[in-house]
Amino acid sequence: MDRREAGISDLAGALSGQAERLSHCVHCGFCLPACPTYTRLGDEADSPRGRLHLMGAVMEGRLDPGSDAFQDHLDRCLGCRACETVCPSGVEYGHLLERARQVAAAARAPSPLQGLLLDAIGRRTLFLPWMWSSRLLRSSGLPAMAARLLPDRGLLGTLRLGSAMLAASAPAEPWKGSGESRGPAAGGAPPATATPSAKGRVGLLRGCVQDQLFRRVNHATRRVLEANGWEVISVSGQGCCGALHAHGGRLDEARRMAWGNVRGFEAVGVDWVVANAAGCGAAMKEYGELLGEEDAARGEAGEAFAHRVVDVSTLLAGGDRTPRVGAPLELRVAYDPPCHLLHAQRISGPPERLLASVPGVELVPLENADECCGGAGIYGITHRELGGEIGGDKAAAVEASGAQVVVTGNPGCMMQIGAQLRLRGSRIPALHPIELVDESYRRAGFYHGST
Ligand code: SF4
Ligand code: SF4
Repeated sequence: MDRREAGISDLAGALSGQAERLSHCVHCGFCLPACPTYTRLGDEADSPRGRLHLMGAVMEGRLDPGSDAFQDHLDRCLGCRACETVCPSGVEYGHLLERARQVAAAARAPSPLQGLLLDAIGRRTLFLPWMWSSRLLRSSGLPAMAARLLPDRGLLGTLRLGSAMLAASAPAEPWKGSGESRGPAAGGAPPATATPSAKGRVGLLRGCVQDQLFRRVNHATRRVLEANGWEVISVSGQGCCGALHAHGGRLDEARRMAWGNVRGFEAVGVDWVVANAAGCGAAMKEYGELLGEEDAARGEAGEAFAHRVVDVSTLLAGGDRTPRVGAPLELRVAYDPPCHLLHAQRISGPPERLLASVPGVELVPLENADECCGGAGIYGITHRELGGEIGGDKAAAVEASGAQVVVTGNPGCMMQIGAQLRLRGSRIPALHPIELVDESYRRAGFYHGST
């Protein structure tokens, strides 16, 4: 047995550590209609049940993890975890998928594009120049033009999609003209200059893509939290959450990033670690298990950290919390819940309540809102055709809803939905829910000179 084979064997052993989790599947098939790849491709092997079957076959040594069957069907999974929500047996599909992908990656190198993207995101020396040049390009207006002019074929098609995604990440000003400011809303709104009493100390995860392409969302989140009485502490020792690396089976890198964040936030000491990106929040809530697989003490620290992770919508509008009420916006809004909020974190209610708290916002129904947008981290780029088909259906649903803006709390989803809308010629912007609340507060005069 050579070193590579020995490595695969070790990892397949790691997958066999998941036998108990795999055994929960009773093959009922309830998950099939919820799976976007199964409903598009109609192949059992591209369904959750089929993929679990393939994992079981590798675990039992009946299937080579380097085989096309294992590699291709796992690779086509979005990792959206819609199957978990509907599964009556509580199969932890997302956890199994990450371990299976670790085995798959050891058996066969992933596509060069996927490897390149994950390498670049994981190394600041590559990531920061990439993001700096992306922002420069974005401000030139060229990506918006390229998205309109390039053909949807081959490498140019990938460039067209990447351009549309970058253009979609730009600040979208026109939506702010959709409603007149009438000053602070009447009835229950605190005075514009009121500062609620401090509720506690929170640290905001800045994220990687969020920080570089959507810094305005982080700024808006800080302003809204402060306007609601939370003290927002700057946490310098933080970094990428590791979600994309975990989803790609690069668990060692994900653990390194997770441990960095645990230490960074612990050094400052906060009551809550706030996430405004669903994928990051979901990943951080799983730090205990991720770290504990390699080191029990780190696992305990990761678990304690995970208990403090909260999505910004839950902190503002979860349980009996009610956010401050700002000025009206007069907007028809479609809310598309990110999969890693709805399915992975099982959060529904707080985002809708937060949006409904903005006077003048009319939440319009969005067909198949609980289905993935096809973005799924870097999936939209690495699987342009299937991701584009799923994303195109999402964009069509947004258009059919009659909404003036679509909101979703995850940078990848904002870019994917925004890009797909652009590619259809639509001008509906994709925003983060907190941007609406922030604009409502700004119009109400809650900030008074703060940025
Ligand atoms: S719904 Fe759950 S138990 Fe049923 S086939 Fe799907 S994963 Fe297995
Ligand atoms: S994670 Fe999403 S794409 Fe993957 S099997 Fe489950 S429902 Fe299907």
